[in-house]
Amino acid sequence: MSLPQSEVNRLLQENLTQNDIEFFKNKYGKKFVKALRTVEEGKIVRYQFSPSEAVTWIVKGRGRQYLVIPEIYCTCRSFYQEAVISRETNMCYHLLAQRIAEIREEYNTQESTDVERRKLYVEWRRTD
Ligand SMILES: [Zn+2]
Repeated sequence: MSLPQSEVNRLLQENLTQNDIEFFKNKYGKKFVKALRTVEEGKIVRYQFSPSEAVTWIVKGRGRQYLVIPEIYCTCRSFYQEAVISRETNMCYHLLAQRIAEIREEYNTQESTDVERRKLYVEWRRTD
């Protein structure tokens, strides 16, 4: 899943117009609405670990956190069911939210260590 440059350009505008919102809603449906809300609620976190400088993107959900590999993968159940198993789609709203957040630079940054990363990954890798 990758957004065409024309959509990236739309998302780069400081203020999205009603027209832009309608355009994305027509294309992505409810996923766009949920993704935009998730970004506005500040639930996207970019972890940067040292000394490796590895970066991990997390989207905070209701009960847990989802690990998102940009444009590729998310650990949530709907991605597993709809993208991996039934192949109805190639994204969930977390994947869309991560892209919106990165493009618009509307994410939180968290610095941590590689030692801590190993512990965090035990939780993040869960797919249930
Ligand atoms: Zn997801």
